[in-house]
Amino acid sequence: VRTPPRAYLPDLLYAGGAVRAGAALSVVDGRVAAVGEPEVGCAWVRLAGTAVLPGLVSAHSHAFQRAIRGRTEHRAAGGLGAGARPDFWAWRDAMYEAALRLDPDDLFAVARMAFHEMARAGVTAVGEFHYLHHDPAGRPYADRDEMAKQVARAAREVGLRLALLRVAYARAGHGLPENPLQRRFRDGSVDEVVRSLEDLASGLRDEWTSLGAAPHSVRACPAAWIERLAGESRRRSLPLHVHVSEQPAEVAQCRAEHGASPVEVLDRAGALSPATTAVHAIHLSDGDVALLGARGVTVCACPTTERDLGDGVVPADQLLAAGARLALGTDSNLQINLFEEARALEGHLRLTRLERAVLDPGGGRIDGLGRRLWDVASAGGMASLGLPGGALAPGDPADFLVVSLDDPSLAGASGEDLLPAAVFGMAGTAVRDVYVGGEPAVLSGAPARVPAEVVVQDFRDTMRKLWG
Ligand SMILES: [Zn+2]
Repeated sequence: VRTPPRAYLPDLLYAGGAVRAGAALSVVDGRVAAVGEPEVGCAWVRLAGTAVLPGLVSAHSHAFQRAIRGRTEHRAAGGLGAGARPDFWAWRDAMYEAALRLDPDDLFAVARMAFHEMARAGVTAVGEFHYLHHDPAGRPYADRDEMAKQVARAAREVGLRLALLRVAYARAGHGLPENPLQRRFRDGSVDEVVRSLEDLASGLRDEWTSLGAAPHSVRACPAAWIERLAGESRRRSLPLHVHVSEQPAEVAQCRAEHGASPVEVLDRAGALSPATTAVHAIHLSDGDVALLGARGVTVCACPTTERDLGDGVVPADQLLAAGARLALGTDSNLQINLFEEARALEGHLRLTRLERAVLDPGGGRIDGLGRRLWDVASAGGMASLGLPGGALAPGDPADFLVVSLDDPSLAGASGEDLLPAAVFGMAGTAVRDVYVGGEPAVLSGAPARVPAEVVVQDFRDTMRKLWG
């Protein structure tokens, strides 16, 4: 049953590109009906002492990695990765070990925990880059999409909008033997991937759940797979997501196989367009940056994960100048806080460029940079997932958060500095209510649809089962 038409009246409203005082957000049938005067027929809901802002989007998430939070922040003394440099690749082996342990119920419990944490942090939509397809022995489940359905069920229980990005994974790498740790990810053929996309389109897609095609990377997919999936994404109007140049070794392998960079290989395969999201895009040549910009690609930066894994810094300033768009992701879900992703995107550039306000669009406005970063975290994410909205303009889905202007981290904010104060200083405790498609996911800091105790206890039990 839908929430009846309502006009929300906060102290401050960031909608349709402007921060306004005393304006109402009218919501009818899950969409923004009007901004300003309350729409006729809407029940008024006064939200005193609050600001309403467009919902945040984690455009790149691996929900199951929530299960290894805190378990990889050390140098290995024995076991997997022993003696190896404590780099991305050693972390990856530890992550694979977790991936091999999760059964469908475990995945549900872990994903629901991650999505619950997202909702509490003001996230309204998530792009789940889903590659945990098969059973722990590497055999397809009786229902080939069993694991994808667990992820979708978790998102629905929490009330998040989900774009399930169905990953295609062919191989360990060019000329490399099969890696048994990847047996749950691998597809037998690109036809299998396309069939799975078809099944998911009929079995999973609804008002809250959308799809995307996701060749994992140029390492894990041969060019022919990428070309085929790029074609399918065009034909079916699906977003196309791919990991790009996260690590130097991946770029070197690609050059050895193709004599070209990952970005160039994707372009030759017809895989770069405004429907494409290049995840990470860190180790780029000047030519790569120009190509991503010219094709209107979105780059999804995941700064807290990229920092944690020692990946490097996304050259977001150069990418914006070249014409690329930006989105943000919580990726490994080590932290779930889109404000932190937004401030880290800018902060990492300050540390490398030895300047401040690197991504400020100019014009001398106090809120220029804060506004740009909020838009990257909201509208940028929705565009990356192929979804309309993200700006709370009339017609957009009513995905928004209500933040408390009395929270210590936001107290004193005015219309002029609300956005930079939120991006650079707000704590998660300021998030009061979260609405997705006009329906509450969080009310007064507590989940609206499933008790927090249930989510947390199931997750604790699962962690005990996984790790003892
Ligand atoms: Zn990823």
